[in-house]
Amino acid sequence: MTIERLQPFLASSYENFPKGRTIGVVVFRTTQSETIFRTEGTGEPMCSEYVQAGIENTESIPRLVMTKRKQIAPERRKGREFLRSNGLLYTAPKSNAICALNTNAPCEMCIDCFLYGFAAGGEGAQKSRVWTEDAFSVLPATELTGDRTINAIFENGTMRDEKGNPSTALNTSEYIKPGVHFLDIVTFKDVTADEMRYALGNILLTSRYGAVSSRVGRMENQILGVFGGIAELPSSLELVQGVYDKLIADGKPIEHPFNTDALVSVTQSVIANWTNKRGISMQLSVDELNELIADVDRHWDLAEQETFLNRLDKTYESLRKVKSESKKRGRNGNQEE
Ligand SMILES: [Zn+2]
Repeated sequence: MTIERLQPFLASSYENFPKGRTIGVVVFRTTQSETIFRTEGTGEPMCSEYVQAGIENTESIPRLVMTKRKQIAPERRKGREFLRSNGLLYTAPKSNAICALNTNAPCEMCIDCFLYGFAAGGEGAQKSRVWTEDAFSVLPATELTGDRTINAIFENGTMRDEKGNPSTALNTSEYIKPGVHFLDIVTFKDVTADEMRYALGNILLTSRYGAVSSRVGRMENQILGVFGGIAELPSSLELVQGVYDKLIADGKPIEHPFNTDALVSVTQSVIANWTNKRGISMQLSVDELNELIADVDRHWDLAEQETFLNRLDKTYESLRKVKSESKKRGRNGNQEE
């Protein structure tokens, strides 16, 4: 069983103190439609950064950036949809409202709060045990974006009014083209097997990213590698740089659209020797990886989901009790002062 191979790098139950058990996941993200990553309504250009093209190729190129926040917010929301539908989001003591993201009142009791952490609350914060970093496009940003001018459409369904006058442009917006590839490293620290299934499920089930709209932002996530160790994998920047060097060495043209299968196999060859790096002990084989994904799918299946989420939720039960008792003690203490 795949999960057993990962056992040395998994926690057997949730603990408050870190023990250095690290699982690194290589995520390959491909846009399936026009996608927009920027702060909505600010008119800012698309998020990109000048970085070294490769590790050996030292010229600078602009790369599109998918920030940590753009990745993790939709993925957390995905998991929380299922927590909500199974009644596993709790009432936040501070606001007396159901746990919500990006408010000052997380419930501090649900699976999401325990795994991804929270920053508010009277008794300090829970650190996230799912670490993300900025993901970079493999190819230069200049190849990967387009501009779309949006014109007003008249009620007759055309861009000319009854007198034949053309409509004016409402605005021009920059977008990321379909078929753009991002490479990304996600790190799980001291998670249990079920927590790993939960977090992997969130990555695999999320299909919309970026500026929220019904028509854009479709993205497909694939998991290309899972590693166990006591240290983090190389960064996602090092990964795209390694892939870029290999594409150049193989004489592949660096242009969009890039064949997805070809890029997957180049990426797999780059990560294949990562187990030689310090602190990284093992990589799941292709068969083991497929088995792990099938295991995650099985747990998230509609028939299994309720049992799985309830089992995971129960693992925090004793910690919730400790918390409410310490709150009581705190109150009594205050009264004595
Ligand atoms: Zn919560």
